[in-house]
Amino acid sequence: MFGLENKVILVTGGNRGIGAAIVAKLEEVGAVVGYTYRSSPGPAGKLPLKADVTDIDDMERVISQVEDELGPIYGVVANAGITQDALLSRMTKAQWDAVIGTNLTGVYNTIRPLAPLMYERKEGAMVFVSSVVGEQGNIGQANYAATKAGLIGMAKTLGLEGARYGVRANVVAPGFTETDMVKAIPDPVKEKILKTIPLRRFATEEEIAWGAAFLLSPTLAGYITGTVLSINGGRHT
Ligand code: NDP
Repeated sequence: MFGLENKVILVTGGNRGIGAAIVAKLEEVGAVVGYTYRSSPGPAGKLPLKADVTDIDDMERVISQVEDELGPIYGVVANAGITQDALLSRMTKAQWDAVIGTNLTGVYNTIRPLAPLMYERKEGAMVFVSSVVGEQGNIGQANYAATKAGLIGMAKTLGLEGARYGVRANVVAPGFTETDMVKAIPDPVKEKILKTIPLRRFATEEEIAWGAAFLLSPTLAGYITGTVLSINGGRHT
């Protein structure tokens, strides 16, 4: 049904959280999944590869290895991301650089070696994991919001650049989702956030994974490119 059966997909940060849920979901719909991890491998996926998205040499190696061992990469989900929060007036250059380096340059490092291969083969789909924070901003997250908004601009641009080659680029923008990233938020802050979500709950990892699988699917989303799928319980403002 998804048209992803036996298609090779690369997921960054596929060992835990939303990334691990995406890996599992893609396997469920028949894809063959290679994924990166930094700390330790995850529960699902055919080919776990230790790599740091901030290092372009590492990502070039990952792409070669996935292609050699699994076959031509059809799709990619750029999911790896971090937060280092502070009000901008107190944000250190190191905090700024770390988040930009992982969340934005890390996606460049993933896509730069891969896009020419996809363009040459004239098929493929890219999904970037952004955030509701990239769409709306959030106090204490200027660095994170800048990267996540940046991914929206990047997907819109790659949607235009890739169109002539039949390669689509889209964004999933999750709202607050039950992962380690959200578990780290203090309870009183969580209560406040819940009040701003019309559906009054956080997303499950699986709900975000469905969105990524949908956007990768040539059957379901073959005419969708350069767009943002916001999965945020109705928190649009
Ligand atoms: P987690 O903190 O649970 O997982 C982060 C993942 O990114 C891990 O797999 C981690 O690998 C990987 N990662 C981090 N830095 C690097 C790096 N330099 N190189 C390679 N891998 C790296 O996060 P989530 O699952 O919550 O988030 C996944 C994505 O979804 C992120 O981009 C995040 O910004 C976004 N998002 C999350 C939301 C949420 O509420 N949870 C809401 C909106 C967006 P390792 O475990 O090896 O360190």
